[in-house]
Amino acid sequence: QAADLSSAFNVPPEYVRRTPPYAKLIGNLQTVNQITNNTPLTLAEKILYSHLCNPEESLAKFNGSLSNIRGQEYLKLNPDRVAMQDASAQTALLQFMTCGMASTAVPGSIHCDHLIVGKEGADSDLTSSIATNKEVFDFLQSCGEKYGIQFWGPGSGIIHQIVLENFSVPGLMMLGTDSHTPNAGGLGAIAIGVGGADAVDGLTGTPWELKAPKILGVKLSGKLSGWSSPKDVITYLAGILTVRGGTGYIVEYFGEGVSSLSCTGMATICNMGAEIGATTSTFPYQDAHRRYLIQTNRAPIAEAATIANDQFDFLKADKGAEYDKVIEINLNDLEPHVNGPFTPDLSTPISKFGETAKNEGWPENVSAGLIGSCTNSSYQDMSRAVSIIRQAEKAGLKPKIPFYVTPGSEQIRATIERDGLIKTFENNGAIVLANACGPCIGQWDRSDVPKTSTDFNAIFTSFNRNFRARNDGNRNTMNFLTSPDMVTAMIYSGDMNYNPITDSIKLPNGESFKFEPPQGEELPDDGFIQGRAEFYPEADPKPKPDVKINVSPDSDRLQILEPFAPWSGEELSTNILLKVEGKCTTDHISAAGAWLKYKGHLENISYNTLIGAVNKETGEVNTAYDFDGKSYGIPELMTKWKTEGRPWNVVAEHNYGEGSAREHAALSPRFLGGSIILVKSFARIHETNLKKQGMLPLTFANEEDYDKLSSGDLLTTVDLRDMVAKDGNNGGTLRMKVTPKDGSAEFEILCKHTMSKDQIDFFKAGSAINYIGNVKRE
Ligand code: SF4
Repeated sequence: QAADLSSAFNVPPEYVRRTPPYAKLIGNLQTVNQITNNTPLTLAEKILYSHLCNPEESLAKFNGSLSNIRGQEYLKLNPDRVAMQDASAQTALLQFMTCGMASTAVPGSIHCDHLIVGKEGADSDLTSSIATNKEVFDFLQSCGEKYGIQFWGPGSGIIHQIVLENFSVPGLMMLGTDSHTPNAGGLGAIAIGVGGADAVDGLTGTPWELKAPKILGVKLSGKLSGWSSPKDVITYLAGILTVRGGTGYIVEYFGEGVSSLSCTGMATICNMGAEIGATTSTFPYQDAHRRYLIQTNRAPIAEAATIANDQFDFLKADKGAEYDKVIEINLNDLEPHVNGPFTPDLSTPISKFGETAKNEGWPENVSAGLIGSCTNSSYQDMSRAVSIIRQAEKAGLKPKIPFYVTPGSEQIRATIERDGLIKTFENNGAIVLANACGPCIGQWDRSDVPKTSTDFNAIFTSFNRNFRARNDGNRNTMNFLTSPDMVTAMIYSGDMNYNPITDSIKLPNGESFKFEPPQGEELPDDGFIQGRAEFYPEADPKPKPDVKINVSPDSDRLQILEPFAPWSGEELSTNILLKVEGKCTTDHISAAGAWLKYKGHLENISYNTLIGAVNKETGEVNTAYDFDGKSYGIPELMTKWKTEGRPWNVVAEHNYGEGSAREHAALSPRFLGGSIILVKSFARIHETNLKKQGMLPLTFANEEDYDKLSSGDLLTTVDLRDMVAKDGNNGGTLRMKVTPKDGSAEFEILCKHTMSKDQIDFFKAGSAINYIGNVKRE
C-alpha cells in the first residue's frame, strides 16, 4: 500500500518543496484511522492528525471518542512550511540564529510588508519606506540568504496574498508569524498564526505543540449573487459568534454553497476567522482550488491534490464526521454587512446601516474609502470594484471622497495593470498604493484628518481589523469593514445613509443614477502575469553559510539575542518587584504603537515592560519601589535589580497576559532578570510564551494568598527540584516560602504549575530556543 501511495504522486522536482508530502500524510492518516477505529474525522482533523509526529502518543487517550482529544490533549505536529512578516520575522530569526543550525528544516519565507507606509502612491512610498527601514530589510535579506529562506522584499506584496499565490495547497499545514495566516485555508490548508518562538519550532523541525482544537462546522447552502460577496459570509458570522466565539476552534466550512465560491473568496473568509478568535479556518477541496492552482502556475500540484482528494478522500471530511457546533448560512439570503466601528463583530446589514448610524450618532459622512489588503485584493475583488467605477464613469459621476487601492501582490498589481483596471482606478481619482500593508497597519500617513483630531470621522475599508488607531493612528477614526463593492459604491455618495442596492445618487444633470450589481471575473481570462522581476526571489534558495548577518552593535533597531542562562539546579529565591492590580494584558506588559520599531532590539523594546501595569500598593501606573523607598519606572527598577544580581518576580491577578500572542511580553521580563510570574490565573497563550522563554509561571493554589504578599518580600521555592525531577508531571503543586520584607515571621504558600516534560526541558535549558539549540547541536 505504501508503494501504491508513493507511486500515485509524481510531482516534477521543481514543485516538490511546494507540494504537501501527500503519500506520507495519507500513510500517517491510515495509522490514525487504526488508532481511532476508523472514527469519521472532519477535514481539519484529517490534515492536523496526518501531521502528527507520533499519532500513538498524541491520540493515546482516544478511548473510543474524539471528545477525549478535542480541547483536551496536546498534539505534537510537524508543519510543512513557515512564513514570516517583516515585523515579527526579526524576533523569530534572531531566536532561530541562536539555535546554531545551518539551514531550516522546512521551507520558509520572509515578507517585507508591514513596514511600508501608504501616503502618496506606490513608488514614492516604497522609496521612503525602504530608506527608513533599510537596516531591518538588509538584516532579513541576509538571514534569508544564509539559511535558504525565500526573501520577498519590500514591494513584492503582502505575506498572505503571496502565500496564497505560491505556497498554500490543499492539505498543507503551515505556521505563520501573523494572526491572519489562516488566509491560506481558502486553498484548503491548515495555516496557523503563531509567535516567533513557535515559528522556530517549525523552522528547526522541532515538534510544535497545539491543544487539539474543537471543530466548528459552518454549513453553506444557496449561492451568492448580486451585491453579496464572500466578505459578507465572515462579517455576518463575526456578528453571530463575536470576537471570542471561535476561540479554541477550527472553523470548517462545508455544504453545497461552498462550490459557488471562488478560491480567493474562500481565502477572504478564512482570513477573517482571526476576528472571531478561531485557531484557523479551512475549506474542502473544490474545483475552484484546482482552477486557482492552475492559473497560478501550479498545474502539477493541482493534479496531485486532485489525486489526494479523488483517490484517497484526503481533502474532505469523512462521511458522518461530527462537529462540536454547526452554524448554517443560506447564501441566497445573505445581505452585505458593514462591521464596526472599533470592533469587527459589531455587524449591521446594509439595509439597516443608515438608520443604525443615525441612532448611534456616528458621523453623517464617510471621509475615505480604502480597498485591497491581504483580505480583499483578488482579481475578482478588483474587477468587481472596477465594474462599479465604470458604471459611474459612464454616468458622469465623480468620487466624492478620497479612494485608495492596495494591491496584495506584484502579481495582482501587474495583472490588473495589464487588463486596464489600474488605469480605470487612477482615471477616477484613486491612489494606488504599494503592494504592502500600509493603511491596514497604522502606516497610513494621512493628511486630510490630523492624527490628534478629537472629532470622529468614518472610513469604509475592505480590510479585516478595526481597532482604534489601526489605520491612520487616529483613535477617533471609525473604520467600517465591508466588501470592496460596498466601499467602492460608497465613494460616489459619501453619505453614511446610502445603500447602493436601493438608493440612487443625483447626477450633475439632475437625473438619478442607481448602480447595477457589480460583475467580476473569478480569474483573469489571459492568466496572471508576474510583473516586475526584481520583486521575485530565487525559487528554491540554497543556504549560503558564508553570508554574514548584518547586525551593527550600534544599531537601535536590531540586536543579536544572547542565550538566557540555564537553570542553576537550585531552588529559586526571588524578590517581588511589583504587585499588579487588576487587568494586565499583553498591551500592559509590552506596549505596541511607537515601540513596534524596536521589535528586533530586545534591550530597547524591554524599556516598555509593564509600563501600563497598575501598582496594587499605590495605585500608580509604571511605578515600583526599591528597598530604600525610592520610586522607579518599572523597567528601570527591573534593570537596576538585574545589574545588582537580584532576581525578581511579579505577582498579579486574573487572566494575566490576555490579548495577543505578543512574545515580547515574555521575552522582555526574562531579559530584565525576571524568573517567576505568580498570578491568580493566566491567559493560556501567554503562559505558554513564558514557559518558552524559561520563566516559571505559577498560580496561587489559594487566591487569598495574593493579599498576604507585598513588594520586596522574598519568595523561595521549596520543592522545585522535586518538580523538575518528576519532569513536571504535566502539572501539580509547588511550595513557596515567603520571607516578608517587614521582618515579620516567614510563612509558606502553595502554588500550582502546568509544566509538561518538554516545558521542564525548556526551563532547565534557560529557554525553548536554548533547548532546541542544544538538541540540534548534539
Ligand atoms: Fe495584517 Fe493588514 Fe498586512 Fe493583512 S494587510 S497582513 S491584516 S497588516
